[in-house]
Amino acid sequence: MQNLVKTFLMTELFGGLRITFKRLFTKKITVQYPEEKTPQSPRFRGLHALRRYPNGQERCIACKLCEAVCPALAITIESTVGPDGTRRTSRYDIDLFKCIYCGFCEEACPVDAIVETRIHEYHMEARGENIMTKDKLLAIGDKYEAMIAADKSADASYR
Ligand code: SF4
Ligand code: SF4
Repeated sequence: MQNLVKTFLMTELFGGLRITFKRLFTKKITVQYPEEKTPQSPRFRGLHALRRYPNGQERCIACKLCEAVCPALAITIESTVGPDGTRRTSRYDIDLFKCIYCGFCEEACPVDAIVETRIHEYHMEARGENIMTKDKLLAIGDKYEAMIAADKSADASYR
């Protein structure tokens, strides 16, 4: 009987409308993404990148610490000796489908070579695009080095 009266008087509908009208004149908190964006921490862990030194030399020395520490076994490294006698990677793959964005690879790296950037707007359209190869990672590092370096120094000031 009580439910019948509630239905007849539409109390739930008016209850909902009361909340709608209450919110009508308050400050809007909806963000019109992608035109508007919320602030992002410099410590955000997004797409990976491999960095170079200012002289263009790859930072990575193929020590494989990142591969060993990765809990998701997402990193595959093969190494070789470069023309200058230094140890270099001949293959550096990260499987983004396996990666859990924990940041352990970045923390383990002794030369700040592998980093997680703040880039989170990316997608894949074809099979296999989830594998981030060395060339792709270096290209991201080259393109976003200024942002990566700034985030690194901001991160250091937190510690
Ligand atoms: S962020 Fe974590 S899971 Fe992803 S590659 Fe690095 S160590 Fe592996
Ligand atoms: S990215 Fe860093 S931790 Fe990984 S192999 Fe290269 S130097 Fe070692």
